Amino acid sequence: MFARQLASRAVPAVRGQSRVAAIRAFSATANARIEYPTVEKGQSLWNFTDEENMLRDTVRKFAVDNIEPIVRQMDEAEIMDPALIQGLFDNGLMGIEVPEEYGGAGMSFTSAIIAIEEIARVDPSVAVLVDVHNTLVNTVFRHHASDAIKEKWLTGLATEKVGSFCLTEPAAGSDAFGLQTTAKLDSSGDFYVLNGTKMWISNSGEADTFLVFANVDPSKGYKGITAFVISKDMGVEIMKKEEKLGIRASSTCVLNFDGIKIPKENVVGEVGKGYKIAIEILNEGRIGIAAQMIGLAQGAFEKAVPYTYQRKQFGKAVGDFQGLNFQFADIATQIEAAKLMTYNAARLQEEKRPFTKEAAMAKYYASVVAQRAAGAAIEWCGGVGFTRDTGIEKYWRDSKIGAIYEGTSNIQLETIAKFIKKEYA
Ligand SMILES: Cc1cc2nc3c(=O)[nH]c(=O)nc-3n(C[C@H](O)[C@H](O)[C@H](O)COP(=O)(O)OP(=O)(O)OC[C@H]3O[C@@H](n4cnc5c(N)ncnc54)[C@H](O)[C@@H]3O)c2cc1C
Repeated sequence: MFARQLASRAVPAVRGQSRVAAIRAFSATANARIEYPTVEKGQSLWNFTDEENMLRDTVRKFAVDNIEPIVRQMDEAEIMDPALIQGLFDNGLMGIEVPEEYGGAGMSFTSAIIAIEEIARVDPSVAVLVDVHNTLVNTVFRHHASDAIKEKWLTGLATEKVGSFCLTEPAAGSDAFGLQTTAKLDSSGDFYVLNGTKMWISNSGEADTFLVFANVDPSKGYKGITAFVISKDMGVEIMKKEEKLGIRASSTCVLNFDGIKIPKENVVGEVGKGYKIAIEILNEGRIGIAAQMIGLAQGAFEKAVPYTYQRKQFGKAVGDFQGLNFQFADIATQIEAAKLMTYNAARLQEEKRPFTKEAAMAKYYASVVAQRAAGAAIEWCGGVGFTRDTGIEKYWRDSKIGAIYEGTSNIQLETIAKFIKKEYA
């Protein structure tokens, strides 16, 4: 009865038109809204190339052998081990998508996503270093830089120099285009003069190469925003290093630019088009954060569940109580869903299909699942989970950042809601 009422409301009788015709028109409109991709043959979403599967195995081994033994030490000291960074370069993990002619591995976007996921499974701090460097900095250079800039800067980024992505400022967070850093063209017309302050900049403690967004003409608003590449020795001042709740081995600093002279050849892309670069790259970069979060969730799950089958209470393994194993099933389902969303968004990006909504959904959902999985993992292990010895509490601390950087969860929801309105309003 209720269903019939609803149907009659959804498909109002149109004067002079039968209800059947109205339903047809209704379904035609609904179908017209969705573009389904076509493939030669049906494929599962767990569909990786041999190269991608090999990369996953290699990165997993690298993370277990080289990162796992120093995770706690790096977290407590709040330092990224320089030898580990060198190891990331040596193993091609800092130039995953960079073409071989510039010293990179020339692999797919999904490969970068897999590498970030596998590293985050062991340490989300290292994963963000790899993520920002590959999916933000390197990608902007690959897509927008001139050949001369690629030759000069991208080769270094793929082989030896850490990169930072500098957009956020003290007064410009979610509203990133309200940035106040300026780059004024000198009267000679040969160089820009950079002044301003950036905040929350990942990798900045280790970086040599900085991709900086600054306004060349504030009277034009966001249409003055331009991307520049500069090196540390041009005068980047690394100010306060933040003391954080999680991802503590990843450096996050305040940067100051006090009259840095930037040759005009260092403009990345076109003058005044920096806002487009930032939008494009953050849409894509969100898939990287989703990958960090699914890796984190998987890592916490894998650390906690085996313990519950060892720990006995009331004469049996605590993991055998339905109160716990139903929770395992529930969290495992959520991790699986977040993985599928992340891989799907990555493939859409690769296939040059629209992916902005799917990327926002993947990042939003993966960060929710990461928090849930890591929080539950602590509880599943009881008091042991609450100690720093097991490393499980670190996953929970690290999970909080997923809902904040590269667009907070509210900003992801806003993006998703805009698409819904476009489709249905
Ligand atoms: C550890 C860390 C690393 C980072 N790394 C980098 C980096 O490498 N490069 C870089 O450029 N930036 C980086 N950031 C900055 C990060 O992207 C910003 O922190 C983030 O975009 C949020 O900005 P904000 O902190 O100023 O929060 P705010 O924008 O002040 O937001 C505060 C609250 O208001 C809500 N809010 C804001 N606007 C809206 C709205 N329109 N609708 C609903 N709610 C809203 C937010 O969701 C949030 O809950 C990093 C931040 C952190 C913490």
